Order: sequence, then C-alpha cells, then structure tokens
Amino acid sequence: MDARAPKGTTDMLPSVARAWEYMTRIASELFARYGYEPIYSPLFEHTDVFTRGIGEATDIVSKEMYTFDDRAGRSLTLRPEGTASIVRAALEHTLVPQGAFAKLYYAGPMFRYERPQKGRMRQFWQIGIEILGAAEPSADAEVIALLVRYFEALSIASTRMRLLLNSMGDEVCRPAYRETVAAHIRSRSAELCEECNRRAETNPLRAFDCKLPSCQDVMSTAPLLRDCLCPECGEHYSAVKRYLDDIGIVYDEDPRLVRGLDYYTRTVFEIQAEGLGSQNAIGGGGRYDRLMEQYGGPATPGLGFALGFERTLLALQAAGVGIPAPLRADVYVACADPSLTDAVFRLTQDLRDAEIAAEMDHQGRSLKGQLKQADRLSAPHVVIVGPEEFAEGEITLRDMRTRGQSRVRLADIVGHMGSQLDGRSD
Ligand code: AMP
Repeated sequence: MDARAPKGTTDMLPSVARAWEYMTRIASELFARYGYEPIYSPLFEHTDVFTRGIGEATDIVSKEMYTFDDRAGRSLTLRPEGTASIVRAALEHTLVPQGAFAKLYYAGPMFRYERPQKGRMRQFWQIGIEILGAAEPSADAEVIALLVRYFEALSIASTRMRLLLNSMGDEVCRPAYRETVAAHIRSRSAELCEECNRRAETNPLRAFDCKLPSCQDVMSTAPLLRDCLCPECGEHYSAVKRYLDDIGIVYDEDPRLVRGLDYYTRTVFEIQAEGLGSQNAIGGGGRYDRLMEQYGGPATPGLGFALGFERTLLALQAAGVGIPAPLRADVYVACADPSLTDAVFRLTQDLRDAEIAAEMDHQGRSLKGQLKQADRLSAPHVVIVGPEEFAEGEITLRDMRTRGQSRVRLADIVGHMGSQLDGRSD
C-alpha cells in the first residue's frame, strides 16, 4: 500500500485546518452582513450538470474532471467548482421563484485533475458566493466589492492585490466576436500551437489564456470584445465600472480576461495577489445569466465568485500576515501527587464547564514536567493541586508570567479564574 496522500492532495494538518476555519469564519461573518446564507451541495453530481453548465470544450470538462460510474452505472463527477451545483440546487428546490432572488455562499473542496504545482492542487478548497435573480449592474459591483473586502478583512492590503475586469458580452454580441477571433487564429495558424489551432474550432476565446509566448504574441493583436459589445452589454459594463468608481474600488480593465468556463456572460473579474508566481489568481468570478436556462429552468440572471483557500493562504504568507494563534489553555491543572488525579480531573472538567479552556496531564508526567507542558501550551495560569493544600480545601494558583503564587480555596477557584479571565486584555 502507498501510505501517502494521492498526488495533488494534502492532509489539512492542524495549522492549515485552523487557517481554513479562520477564513470560513471571517467569510460567514462578512457575507452575512451582505445578506448571504449558507448552502451545501453534494460533493458529486450527475456528470451532465458540469458538461452542460461549464461547457464540453472547456479545459475543466475535457481534461480535468474526476468522472466515474457508480455501482448502478450512473455517470457521476466530483465537483470541479461550485456554481453549477448551486444553480442546479436552486432550480431543483425553486429557490428563486419568479421575481425573487437568492444570495448564497458555500465553502468546501473542489476536484480537478490538473498538473499539481505551487498553488495548484487536484483537491483544493474554495469559498464562494452566488446571487441568483439579480440582473442589475449594481449586483456585479456588490459581488466584486465583497471579494475585495473579504481579502482586506484577512489583512491582505489592497496594494498587494490587482483586480482585473472585463465584459464577455452576451448571446447577442459574443457569437460574432468568437467567429472574429477564430478567423484571427486561422489566419495566423502557423505561428500558434496545436492546442490553440484546435481552439479555433472549439473555444477560440481560450486561446487568450495560452501561456506560450508565441501564442500570446499572436493573441495580443486579436480583436477585442470590448470593441464589439452590443449596446446593452456596453451600458451594463459602464455601469459596473461607475459603481466601482463610486466606492473607490480600483480595477484594471483587461480585455483579454476570458476565464475558463463557458457559462460566463458580461462581467468577469479576477483578483491576483503579489508573491505567488504563476498561479497568482486568488479569486474570481462573473455573471452567468443563461446558466439556469441551460438546465431547463426559467431565465434567471446570476453571478458570483469563488476564491481559493490554498492560494489565499500563500498570499497571506507572502504578505507576512499570520493566522491568529489557537487558544491552547487558559489554565493548566497540575497534579502534585498521583493520589490527587481524581480531584484534578474533576476540577479540569468544572473549569471547562465554566467555559474556561483548561488542560491537564494524561501522560503521568512529574510536577516539573507538567509545568513545562503548561509553558508549551502558553497557559497563563497553573492550578497546582498538592496534598497539603488539598487537605485544607485549597489549591496553589501560579501566575506563569510573574511566577507569583497564591493560595485559593478549592471551592472558589472556578469563579476566581472566571473573573480573572474576564478581565484579560487579549
Ligand atoms: P475558478 O473556479 O477556476 O474560477 O477558480 C477560482 C479560484 O479557485 C482561483 O482563483 C484559485 O484561487 C482557486 N483554484 C482554482 N483551481 C485551483 C487548483 N487547481 N488548485 C488550487 N486552487 C485553485
């Protein structure tokens, strides 16, 4: 047996799991202020949910999905992203009846069979939001502002981030534009890689994402969608920018930002962070006004974003931002004599029941060893239960910072610790 985690996956060890919990807590607090509610969809779906929504010709569907038949022969796929599942769930449960709208957020693992590298995993974790039923450009600006504010709430300075913005047009203006790009690719086919040549037939806009310098060179002279937007898409895009300007959100227009999923219409955006190397997109999203219809549902405009946990953590590390340290123990209850372990056990439980983080020894350590352990846990207080004091109904309380000691009645210690800790500044 290979006892290592599969390629492209990692165990979220406590220090990283703590960061995930921290990020999801900040997210749920912030998102609640904007009116978002949590939603959790299955980790796998019928494969069609993704092929139809994300698009057959996208990298995700054509190369990266974990697809398998279950025992009854159904084709299922581990979710490669969140939006398709949320829109499927919203349709199934009529979360957005005519004229209504829903604001939802999710957090959890996604799966893509990609070539692993720094910031690129096969199982990675995302936090995302979706607004369904909102067609107005103010919703686009709200979603973008929320993504920026989220990273700011994690203490990534706005100067370390770059927000890219573009409009992908809609079913009125994009088909003709796709043809123009396809024609551009065909006219320069000898200079482009095989994949980009193939893209001319399947998904020409993806050629903008090719990393080869020769392809980038050719695509830098391709016609731009912003010059071909229909009047409605043009107005929508201008309004989004106006709203962002109004609230001081700085963006760079990137007419070549296309993002890898077919369902996007109109606004798309991405936030890149400093110090991450090639995988520098920490979050992104856009509008997908036709997705619900593609699933056979009513016309329901929608938009959202997803941010990647692993890359956000790398961005925090690059910015020198620490995740708050865990609370290990407010009080360490030390046992000075093996005959008193029952009393130590009871007192530790009483402290915990009073909402005080308390710890005791479970390894038969000497008193000296226990005091060392208390130091390791950064416990500011140690209660020492010793035979002499205990016989008089008392314990010794040691302040680990000043090393000062005092005697306190055993019956009073829980209340005493409670009031001491209520007054703490940290
Ligand atoms: P996407 O769903 O492709 O728009 O990605 C949204 C965010 O998820 C990106 O900005 C990344 O932060 C993150 N992400 C996407 N793919 C991966 C991956 N393979 N490994 C780690 N993070 C990823």
